[in-house]
Amino acid sequence: MRVTVLGAGTMGRGIAQVAAAASHDVALRDIEQSYVDDGIAGIEATLSEGVDRGKVTPEERAATLDRITGTTSLADAAAGADLVVEAVPEDADLKKQTLTEAEEYVDETTVLASNTSALSVTDLASALDRPRRLLGLHFFNPVHLMGLVEVVVAEQTDDATLEVAREFVDSIGKTAVEVRDSPGFASSRLGVALGVEAIRMYEEGVAGVEDIDAAMELGYNHPMGPLELTDVVGLDVRLDILEHLREELGERFRPPQALKRKVRAGKVGKKAGEGFYVWEDGEAVRPADDGGAGT
Ligand code: NAD
Repeated sequence: MRVTVLGAGTMGRGIAQVAAAASHDVALRDIEQSYVDDGIAGIEATLSEGVDRGKVTPEERAATLDRITGTTSLADAAAGADLVVEAVPEDADLKKQTLTEAEEYVDETTVLASNTSALSVTDLASALDRPRRLLGLHFFNPVHLMGLVEVVVAEQTDDATLEVAREFVDSIGKTAVEVRDSPGFASSRLGVALGVEAIRMYEEGVAGVEDIDAAMELGYNHPMGPLELTDVVGLDVRLDILEHLREELGERFRPPQALKRKVRAGKVGKKAGEGFYVWEDGEAVRPADDGGAGT
């Protein structure tokens, strides 16, 4: 398959890497040459780590890199593509513009996919001449390690499009979960639901931060508890998602006050050094000691 990836940021470079590793020919396009170069350097670094860990052979690294062509030209990137995946920033207008521009350079049968985390794929499709050829392919970060791809089926998506997408996900060794286009798809909606209840329990003083997390880690075998995971994702990111889900799905996604207070105080989690935990050198070292009442 010939695969075009639009956007060489965190997700685009990961998608390009896994597609090329699965023997697809990949064109990676960004708007400036330095972003393209950074993307390819990132792929090279990830593959080299793989070689160091014995997960990738030096030959596989070389072959994967050989199959990726970086460019700033949309015409060059999109020509002859069987599948175009956009991974540009999460802005509906930018995504619509990017997809409609790409549509001008591809064949009638080319499948277009959006890696959006939360936007309505049905709405994105409404901007296209051939809306039936669009669906969501929601990858997870880091792409080369995560096994899931949510295949988000828009109102307009036809069966032939879905079939190509399923074949592609299968070819890169990942598992496709098919979801009807709806707010939060499957993963964000469920992940956030658990996180929000954990924050309410913390707020109500039902249990301490570490005990709430241990309940899920040890009782349910989750690799990380819901409060630590909220710190890793970013409290600000989770608050935005909750506000969106509350608007679309109702009051059960109302953001807890404790979350809002921490975000207002800049305690947005791991990246800020404090959220529900205090973070040092990338590790959660102890619970932040402001209790459920927050600060
Ligand atoms: P990013 O900011 O790291 O990368 C976006 C890249 O797109 C940038 O390099 C930017 O220069 C480029 N770009 C902008 N306009 C472009 C255009 N017209 N054509 C080509 N490239 C263009 O963003 P990201 O974290 O990779 O996220 C991309 C998408 O993936 C978003 O929709 C995001 O919601 C979604 N997503 C992100 C994650 C994550 O954990 N980061 C996980 C799942 C989904």
